Amino acid sequence: MAQFDYDIGILGGGSAGLTVAAGAAQFGAKTLLIEKEKVLGGDCLHFGCVPSKTLIKTAHVYHLMKHAQRFGLPQPGLQPVDFRDVSGRIRSVIDTIQKHDSVERFCSLGAKVLFGHAVFNDEHTVSLDGRKITAKTWVIATGSSPAVPKLEGIERTPYLTNRDIFYLDRLPKSMAILGAGPISIEMAQAFCRLGTRVSVIQRSSRILAREDSDMADAVMQNLKAEGVDFHLDTSVLSVQDLGDERAVMIKTIDGKAVSVRAEAILVALGRDPNLRTLGLDQAGVEYDGKGLRLDARLRTTQKHIFGAGDVTGTYQFTHAAGYEGGVVLTNAVLHLPRRADYAFFPWCTYTDPELAHIGMNETAAKEAGLHYTVWTEEFKMNDRGLAEGEGLGRIKLILDAKEKPLGVQILGLHAGELISEWVAALNGKVKLSALAGAVHPYPTLAEINKRVVGNYFSGKIFSDKVKKALRFFFSLRGRACGVE
Ligand SMILES: Cc1cc2nc3c(=O)[nH]c(=O)nc-3n(C[C@H](O)[C@H](O)[C@H](O)COP(=O)(O)OP(=O)(O)OC[C@H]3O[C@@H](n4cnc5c(N)ncnc54)[C@H](O)[C@@H]3O)c2cc1C
Repeated sequence: MAQFDYDIGILGGGSAGLTVAAGAAQFGAKTLLIEKEKVLGGDCLHFGCVPSKTLIKTAHVYHLMKHAQRFGLPQPGLQPVDFRDVSGRIRSVIDTIQKHDSVERFCSLGAKVLFGHAVFNDEHTVSLDGRKITAKTWVIATGSSPAVPKLEGIERTPYLTNRDIFYLDRLPKSMAILGAGPISIEMAQAFCRLGTRVSVIQRSSRILAREDSDMADAVMQNLKAEGVDFHLDTSVLSVQDLGDERAVMIKTIDGKAVSVRAEAILVALGRDPNLRTLGLDQAGVEYDGKGLRLDARLRTTQKHIFGAGDVTGTYQFTHAAGYEGGVVLTNAVLHLPRRADYAFFPWCTYTDPELAHIGMNETAAKEAGLHYTVWTEEFKMNDRGLAEGEGLGRIKLILDAKEKPLGVQILGLHAGELISEWVAALNGKVKLSALAGAVHPYPTLAEINKRVVGNYFSGKIFSDKVKKALRFFFSLRGRACGVE
């Protein structure tokens, strides 16, 4: 008789857990997936990526309609937004994707799915609604929840988080957003475009702390031009429910107390890993407020218990969860040692235009004490961008002392798609000369990737030395126009 009920048990049916479950079952492991909610899919599908990107698209269409004349079109008469219709569209997109993340699909792959809140009893056993289940290997993929700090008055004041914001029954007239990370900034622009008066309240002097400040500032200036208010360098003193409105009392950098009033408060102040209620002490698994204590192979302090997704506290993105799920599979099911490597890890903030990132930015290169050079190209020089009505943004390529790429940031239309060329190039160690020599279709936004590499090469190719040599060998006679 087998020692354990399952070869592998997974806690959490979100991006990380589903990746592990699908892979493990297809490799032939007896697999159990336990999910706390009534459906699979996790935050990304229900309260994160999918609803936010659907909302952003709706807000973008409304924004374009408001600016029809910029495209040479007659200005349509616009009705105010009914948020129930927006939510309806969000739900329908989720419903379509839900089929892919259904119990039936996972069962067909060979994985057993159970619902309920699982808690560890010991290092091989979890209890689920009083039932004890054992597995040889466990994977903790329970995700994260919005962090809500103990602000004065918060327990008496209604506030929204990512769990509510996509399912409102009406569009708030005004919204104060606490925090200025990607979720805050994406929602600020989307709600502002739909007609909400939005204020962003942020403790530090800038938004999108992970990005270079010049790129983040360009995003902020764009949002300001669209009507978003920013209160930077402020601390939140308290929040208060005023009946029809809420008040956020803030202290500005010069010590002034200011009251920001809004119909809704959105708390977007980071994420807490869902670990506290899992009985991890009983299993001998160590963690802190950021996430699980893991080695490079994503093993916890119990070598047969792994962690993947937001609980790692590393990069809290769906594609990180998927990647880490793959690393766990290789280690836990195939028993091949594989380390998680984030050197060329990409991400994108889905403002309009988008801000995408891979590898090191200038700030990281500076902090690492590296010698680097920065190469840029502006979207206002990109013919397709101009045809699309979007000349804002630029690409920033960082090269090391040996002129190898350390990283790339792109602020511009569809930057999240454009960065994929760099995902392939950096991971595949493609030479810059190959990128410069490759032909891109015209007119495309992706030409900017080639152009920025061209900027790096043009100083070398069209140098005085090369010109002199050509003059010598082929009797070239120099400029035909202007002063030499
Ligand atoms: C508003 C918003 C927008 C986002 N947009 C993007 C984006 O555009 N791109 C991107 O890459 N990422 C985005 N993210 C981040 C992304 O959603 C997460 O990184 C991703 O969902 C993490 O996957 P996960 O599997 O770790 O956790 P989750 O997807 O949250 O899954 C964890 C699952 O575990 C379950 N669970 C918890 N406790 C237990 C328990 N005790 N027993 C059983 N089950 C349990 C939960 O119910 C949940 O279903 C966004 C997040 C938010 C909030």
